[in-house]
Amino acid sequence: MAKKVFLGVGHGGSDPGAVKYIKEADVNLNMALACRDYLQANGVTVKMSRTVDENDPLTEEIRECNAFNPDLAVDIHNNAGGGDGFEVYHYHKGGTSKTLAQNIEAEVKAIGQNSRGLKTRLNSSGSDYYGFIRCIKAPSIICEGVFVDNAADAAQADTLAEQRAFGIAYAKGILKTLGIADNGGNNGNADNGNADGGTISKNDIVTFTGGAVYISSTAAKAAKTVNKTSTCKVTAINTKGTHPYHCISQDGKGVYGWVDKASVRK
Ligand SMILES: [Zn+2]
Repeated sequence: MAKKVFLGVGHGGSDPGAVKYIKEADVNLNMALACRDYLQANGVTVKMSRTVDENDPLTEEIRECNAFNPDLAVDIHNNAGGGDGFEVYHYHKGGTSKTLAQNIEAEVKAIGQNSRGLKTRLNSSGSDYYGFIRCIKAPSIICEGVFVDNAADAAQADTLAEQRAFGIAYAKGILKTLGIADNGGNNGNADNGNADGGTISKNDIVTFTGGAVYISSTAAKAAKTVNKTSTCKVTAINTKGTHPYHCISQDGKGVYGWVDKASVRK
């Protein structure tokens, strides 16, 4: 049976989270979407607390997560308070939660972000301070990618490509913890996506660089992946969507659905 991972996406809707050089709620979502895509490409079943900018209170996240009953749970946040670097909170007694934190920290360092280390925080009664760790039954952690109020640190995650790189680093640490061999994702491609500002228009022929294709619900099909370098035609654009380009495969292999910006290149 496929492993299951729950991704909490911090803040959203009327709660922007920390805001200065970047807006936490939006960055959290981009990181989480990339993490989800990479995990799904590796056969993991993923549930996110939100996939768009909407209200997403912690109590609801916790309820949803426990109902989903995942193998692991990761809450994706970014930090404030003028520090510098990544940090990750885990269950105070360690266990799989701490292993997950260590594996993710190693991947975050590998993409060039410094780490403030693994942390625990207790409340006055000696339990974990953060509800996401205290109240979730699965091994759970909270990742704080960068400090949104430190200009240099925020600059590590102020482009979509960089935000996706964090999400993919989290996914790699999750896969290692689950004992799943990383297939390279066939996905994500933060380094060759469209984040360089190339403008894609309707009827353009683009290269599909891999990743999930979001089949519309009426098609009633699960997301599927395709080979890198497939050539696609852009048939529609929805700039409001998280997956703005609707593509049809030119090679007859059935790519037909909505894809995100990092998954196509002109
Ligand atoms: Zn936050």
